[in-house]
Amino acid sequence: MKYSGFKVIKEALTGHKGWKPVWRKPEPKPAYDIVIIGGGGHGLATAHYLAKKYKQKNIAVLEKGWIGGGNVGRNTTIVRSNYGLHGNEGFYELSMQLWERLEQDLNYNAMVSQRGVLNLIHSDPQRDAFVRRANTMIMNGADAVLLDAKGVREHSPLLNFDNGRFPITGGLLQPRGGTVRHDAVAWGYARSADSAGVDIIENCEATGFDIQAGTVMGVQTSRGPIKAGKVAVAVAGNSSRVMAMAGRRLPIESHVLQAFVSEGLKPLLPGVITFGAGHFYVSQSDKGGLVFGGDIDGYNSYAQRGNLPVVEDVCEGGMAIMPMIGKARMLRMWGGIMDMSMDGSPIIDRTDISGLYFNGGWCYGGFKATPASGLAFAHLLATDTPHDTATAFTLDRFERGLMIDEKGQGAQPNLH
Ligand SMILES: Cc1cc2nc3c(=O)[nH]c(=O)nc-3n(C[C@H](O)[C@H](O)[C@H](O)COP(=O)(O)OP(=O)(O)OC[C@H]3O[C@@H](n4cnc5c(N)ncnc54)[C@H](O)[C@@H]3O)c2cc1C
Repeated sequence: MKYSGFKVIKEALTGHKGWKPVWRKPEPKPAYDIVIIGGGGHGLATAHYLAKKYKQKNIAVLEKGWIGGGNVGRNTTIVRSNYGLHGNEGFYELSMQLWERLEQDLNYNAMVSQRGVLNLIHSDPQRDAFVRRANTMIMNGADAVLLDAKGVREHSPLLNFDNGRFPITGGLLQPRGGTVRHDAVAWGYARSADSAGVDIIENCEATGFDIQAGTVMGVQTSRGPIKAGKVAVAVAGNSSRVMAMAGRRLPIESHVLQAFVSEGLKPLLPGVITFGAGHFYVSQSDKGGLVFGGDIDGYNSYAQRGNLPVVEDVCEGGMAIMPMIGKARMLRMWGGIMDMSMDGSPIIDRTDISGLYFNGGWCYGGFKATPASGLAFAHLLATDTPHDTATAFTLDRFERGLMIDEKGQGAQPNLH
């Protein structure tokens, strides 16, 4: 079904009886050319690009729960391409460009809103670091604007400029950054992949791999065995668990990250704002709620729920830059499982098992990567060569000392 303004008006006038389900509910077939494990943003985007761009056929996406139930529907919706290392920045800028034409590409309203992302500066060394980052961004085709304190005040007058514990001395603004309605991204990619013939199979958990003589032949699932020419793993926070079923250990730890939404308020923030002297970021949804988050919980977990010390830490960060947030009531909070890699950068690569491919290590920034990750993973699956923008995202870079250590924090997941 094609969506259009005309269709919306017609349905509104005829009682909304003509809408059709957005994707089918197929039974799993005994065999596919490509099986993607994980129906999150990355798995679905991979299926979309495989079918639409690389013209691959006979593809299934296996999702153990429901579409949109993982991190793709749990994140704080921020998209940006403001990375400091060339290994990352070109890839994230490609993702930004794909976001910019996503709705036309999918014929789906994903509420792409380029309202800007502002990183606050509180010290001179931080300004130097942001100037360097801005240069990398511009060299990779992204946009970056350095603001002084007056510029930040004009951009976001309701921040605390007068008696902050960490005075705001400037900011790095990416005007093209912003937010995208997270679950609409999952639904849009699912709809597009389905329309191209991809079987999206929900409530189907991969429970093991069929590996013979170093080659993957298929997967065992909660709905029976499925043969596959290639198997692509894109399970985000469950990466270590799923790859352990293939006998492989990853340079990844799983941690919980929480998100929070306040009651609806009048327009208060022009875009996304991040605190530079602590871990806090905030934007305002179209419904008026402040959507915010901060650091990961400090222990490994596969539970999609968080703990109270981080709630306190996040709220302190909020109070430091906008004390009026203390008067807003918190409406909702939830957690998701993050696949934190040991250098803070992702992995899109083949594995040493022939036919088994891996996509993961997205840390708490994988939503913004969704389109480029899907495109690059589809490219790898279809051509067996890495996409130009993803050549640095190798699995063996930790053994070879080729880390993409964006923040120079090394193997400290809580600092990425
Ligand atoms: C609170 C929070 C805030 C965040 N904020 C941002 C942000 O503002 N910006 C940003 O860029 N990123 C953000 N992220 C990170 C981002 O959401 C993730 O990096 C990204 O969504 C991960 O990729 P995905 O969408 O494919 O993951 P998921 O949606 O988690 O998809 C993985 C899927 O695999 C399925 N699965 C797992 N095991 C199996 C199995 N054995 N068989 C079948 N299926 C399986 C899961 O059920 C899941 O649906 C945030 C994350 C959280 C939790």
